[in-house]
Amino acid sequence: MSTSDVDVIIAGGGPSGCATALFLWAETRMLARPPRVLLLDKAEFPREKICAGALGGRADRALASIGVEVRCPGADVRGLGVVTGAGELAARHPRPIGRVVRRREFDAAFLDEVRARGIEVRTGIALEGYTRTSRGVRVATSAGELTARVLVGADGVGSRVRRAMGLPRGALYAQAVEIDTPWCEADDALGRTAEGVSSRRWRAASQARDVLWFDLRDRRYPGYGWSFPTIVGGESLVCRGVYRMTHGVSALDDSGPDVSRLLADELTRLGVGNGPNGKTAVDLTTFKRFAERGLAAHEPTAQESVMLVGEAAGIDPVLGEGLAQAILSGKAAGPYLAQALVRGDVTFRDWPREFARSRVGLDLALRRRALPFVYGSARPRMESLVTRSESLARAGLHYFAGEHVPRGALVRATLDGVRALTGI
Ligand SMILES: Cc1cc2nc3c(=O)[nH]c(=O)nc-3n(C[C@H](O)[C@H](O)[C@H](O)COP(=O)(O)OP(=O)(O)OC[C@H]3O[C@@H](n4cnc5c(N)ncnc54)[C@H](O)[C@@H]3O)c2cc1C
Repeated sequence: MSTSDVDVIIAGGGPSGCATALFLWAETRMLARPPRVLLLDKAEFPREKICAGALGGRADRALASIGVEVRCPGADVRGLGVVTGAGELAARHPRPIGRVVRRREFDAAFLDEVRARGIEVRTGIALEGYTRTSRGVRVATSAGELTARVLVGADGVGSRVRRAMGLPRGALYAQAVEIDTPWCEADDALGRTAEGVSSRRWRAASQARDVLWFDLRDRRYPGYGWSFPTIVGGESLVCRGVYRMTHGVSALDDSGPDVSRLLADELTRLGVGNGPNGKTAVDLTTFKRFAERGLAAHEPTAQESVMLVGEAAGIDPVLGEGLAQAILSGKAAGPYLAQALVRGDVTFRDWPREFARSRVGLDLALRRRALPFVYGSARPRMESLVTRSESLARAGLHYFAGEHVPRGALVRATLDGVRALTGI
């Protein structure tokens, strides 16, 4: 590849890179001279990305606002359920509130949406580093050098851009491990075992196979197990996994069980095999752990000519939810970048403040604040709250879907929260 000049290089063609490219395109397409954008990814697509694939409807709604629809197979999600030592509660909506996708399919379809709008995409090219120049950045790639006014690091948890910026890897870290298995009897039993903590109306919801279940019963570690419906090659399966914070929770006991052992124990308890067609013995060596980075307060996410989006910057540390956050961080970054380019000011000094004011920035800040309550000493009170407050569950459903949260549910959920945490 010869040296070429573009306005923006986006390193990473996952959800945050695609969303940044598309929201920037939407903001600038009417300009006489829209910015020239190059999106590059080290992988060839379709590519695998280990992820449970639960995608809140709010991300699809955000994309629909600029006329983008990412079409791929998936399982509809209509409900959210939580099971803790204090009981269980599931809430369900008549309409889908989101979907569970396979990242191999979703990300390839997303990238096609970028290409379809005339944005240049080059795959199989890895960013290796960059240096700042008087006119922007000189980017070293596996296929040669490129220059641009701006570099966007959308290259995920192992971000090369972040490292080249000289930033620490992040204060909030978690590990996650997952596997797809057939449905089992215990899945249908969820929601039937509640002991007086959920009303019959809500309990019935949990027996459906379109609910995202979060299991916080095991207090030995700061994290949770999940079971999400998923479609693999046309077959309905359950994606099961464990998310465990490893850094960033003060009461952290690192000697606790590791994620692979926790998942293996759960599979044994459920009596399900190690894979859809599978063996019955649980083989720990087949599990690979993957890291997730939470967005920590006061960590820089930009320098002159360079900014980070998606998991390169950080996602929700409480649940490790990163797909909607990645897409919504692209929604915040696109218009911001458009303005910066038009103004000719790419210092990005105000990007952290602008991001913090965006909806996704506020969401992430709130979740970060909730971290000590969810996994710290207030955990029993939090468990009691999430399994008793139907208003909170209802508000959560609407929020996940990206729908207006009814004021009544919001007020009652807030009151329930205050009562639970203050013990009044
Ligand atoms: C086990 C597991 C389960 C998860 N389940 C969920 C879930 O159910 N729901 C949810 O919301 N989130 C989930 N997450 C989190 C979610 O997967 C991520 O937060 C999300 O993918 C972040 O999107 P991104 O675009 O920022 O980064 P990524 O999706 O990681 O995309 C980064 C892209 O950058 C490319 N890249 C990397 N390095 C370079 C380089 N040097 N040069 C060029 N390209 C590069 C990669 O090939 C990749 O395509 C899960 C994570 C894990 C580990």
